[in-house]
Amino acid sequence: MSEQLGMQHKKSEFSEWYNEIVQKAELADHSSVSGCMVIRPYAHAIWERIQRALDDRFKARGVQNTYFPMFIPESLLKKESEHIEGFAPEVAWVTHSGETKLGERLAVRPTSETIMYESFAKWIRSWRDLPLKINQWCNIVRWEFKHPMLFLRTREFLWQEGHTAFADKETAKRDVEDAREDYRAVYEDLMAVPVVSGLKSEKEKFAGAEYTTTLEIMMPDGWVIQGCTSHHLGQNFSRPFGITFKDKDEKDQHVYQNSWGFTTRSMGILFATHGDDKGLIVPPRVAPVQAVIVPIYKDENKTEVLKYAHEISEKLPGLRVHVDDRDAYTPGFKFNWWELRGVPLRIECGPRDMASKEAVFVRRDDGKKTAVKLTGLREKAEAALEEIQKSLYSKAKKFADEHTKEASNMTELKKHLDGNRIRALWCGSRTCEDGVREETGAKISCLPYGLNTKPVKGECVYCGKGASHAAYFGRSY
Ligand SMILES: [Zn+2]
Repeated sequence: MSEQLGMQHKKSEFSEWYNEIVQKAELADHSSVSGCMVIRPYAHAIWERIQRALDDRFKARGVQNTYFPMFIPESLLKKESEHIEGFAPEVAWVTHSGETKLGERLAVRPTSETIMYESFAKWIRSWRDLPLKINQWCNIVRWEFKHPMLFLRTREFLWQEGHTAFADKETAKRDVEDAREDYRAVYEDLMAVPVVSGLKSEKEKFAGAEYTTTLEIMMPDGWVIQGCTSHHLGQNFSRPFGITFKDKDEKDQHVYQNSWGFTTRSMGILFATHGDDKGLIVPPRVAPVQAVIVPIYKDENKTEVLKYAHEISEKLPGLRVHVDDRDAYTPGFKFNWWELRGVPLRIECGPRDMASKEAVFVRRDDGKKTAVKLTGLREKAEAALEEIQKSLYSKAKKFADEHTKEASNMTELKKHLDGNRIRALWCGSRTCEDGVREETGAKISCLPYGLNTKPVKGECVYCGKGASHAAYFGRSY
């Protein structure tokens, strides 16, 4: 039983382990269309918690939800030239209705700037209409040809896209940081995933943006992944779309705009970061089930022990608790089943615990067992969950720090690149960025804010000339 239920691959064999855990913990399935994913209820419940946390933060700063159509006329998508150039290879088109060819092709939205900004041009008239801050939760389609990995790289995924417009550039730039801070808080405080905040290089920025900020995250194989993005669009869209307003002096001005997005990829990052050889570990704050109570009984004491298990559950109000009273399975099977799904705390109770008014806490992250009295049980459970939350973050942070290596030239960069991301200086030229990529496969994943607060001194890792930026280079998802 346990061989089939348990994991076959160790986390050190990352991609096999990842694919296995997604299937075995019942997170998602491939569909009959390659690259499209079926999100199963357990993963969707996690997504709902992430969604709620983000949505509350957006609303607290005055962002309103909305919904736009998923079809974008070709002429509209082509209005901003850099934007369409960036997305063209991945756009899926609707060309027919039944057997009739459409007069104009319709794009299945790869992102909604163009369709939304057509409306912005109608909605915004005066400085009184600003700022305009809207968000939509929806699916998008980017027809990629890279090998799909559920959650991490799929052709259709769920996300939110925030779109904001301002009268002046400074306020707009602050909104870029506010969105990035919302994302940081959700990754670090809710999902216990440490991030690096930074800028994308010119080459890697969003198609049509003035600049792109990002959160970069370390994966278990030392590759890096983009956790989300928040872009300042300047007036790049308001000019072609004619989004203007009359300022206080009755003069026509173009708005400054941003867009920012966070996707279901974050769940793939969550699963990858915290899982272990036994399966998933879900941080308590995002876990659909925070504690599972497993009663251990025989036929003669079944009724009493089950009653005791439910009593324990009632002593944990406000926590997300599940009593596993399935009669068809042994306690051992249930332990494995919940371990695989990463429920952070298991509470075991048998006849002896019942006699002494106790229960046994078993932590999913380190396997530690503690007998606890029922008095003050809720406080004890909350404290245990809090410790698990913190310890998952520290462990992930330690891993990311240990797999960040410094390189001052290409020899060092190549020596450390397997299994690590590289911190190195860069002169800012595209030639050097491309050079590193061609020789090693590593991209500039971000220019971390923390390393670029002061002027950078030293030589570019590629050309040896004066550097202007500190960068993270890595192989990336
Ligand atoms: Zn250089």
